[in-house]
Amino acid sequence: MSSTNETSKRIALVTGAGQGIGEAIALRLAKDGIDVAVNDIPGNTEKVTAVSEKIIAMGRQSSVHIADVSVEDQVEKMISGVVGKHGGLDVMIANAGIVMVQPLVDTTVEQWDRIFAVNVRGVFLCYKYAAKQMIAQGRGGRMVAACSVAGKRGNTGVEYSAYCGTKFAVRGITQAAAEHMDQRMSELHGAPRGDMMKNYAARSLLGHNGTPEDVAGLVSYLVSKEAHFVTGQGIGEAIALRLAKDGLDIA
Ligand code: ADP
Repeated sequence: MSSTNETSKRIALVTGAGQGIGEAIALRLAKDGIDVAVNDIPGNTEKVTAVSEKIIAMGRQSSVHIADVSVEDQVEKMISGVVGKHGGLDVMIANAGIVMVQPLVDTTVEQWDRIFAVNVRGVFLCYKYAAKQMIAQGRGGRMVAACSVAGKRGNTGVEYSAYCGTKFAVRGITQAAAEHMDQRMSELHGAPRGDMMKNYAARSLLGHNGTPEDVAGLVSYLVSKEAHFVTGQGIGEAIALRLAKDGLDIA
């Protein structure tokens, strides 16, 4: 698996890192020896600051970037803030998102637009500004998005058409970006929540759901050098793409 030597000079940004899967990923990457900048919305400032403090206590550098990933100038400022603070960006984890369990017939246009703004536009903006930075740096990079099993199929036993729509979109954006940036893409299994857990568990081959730490472990692998030959694989719920360095990383 990844060694400290391999990752010690890298900087990651994890969005929605104040709790849940984002927090677990941020802490796991710090454990792997990566400096980790963390993001969340204003309402989660206290929690995301606590996560950043934990990362610093682990001996890594960290910084807090409060921003709404659905707002372009906030994302642009967040990426330039990370680069200004840490000197670069190597790993972009577009984890921030919202869930809405709502029958299609009861879904309003406002609700539809909001979930697409956060889950789809948010990933697009994080990819866009992170990729621009990684390309300018010329040393490659990895980008991972939380995709959910709802990005793979609509029949999850939960009535949330809008949410499924956003996650199918994230999958498509990532696959297309991976192909057109001549990069790698892989997928992994993530952890659903609340009432959805039972439905997911019943449909899982393992008969149970994964934990945030399970997802963090897979993200740790996906951003490691060992995963350089992983591409286009259907492992599950999140999708990752890797920016090649001068074409040398292409298998
Ligand atoms: P999970 O169980 O998948 O980890 P959570 O709801 O616990 O899901 O975590 C999602 C995170 O994303 C939360 O910390 C939340 O505050 C954050 N988040 C939600 N919307 C935004 C947004 N627009 N910008 C940044 N972070 C967001």
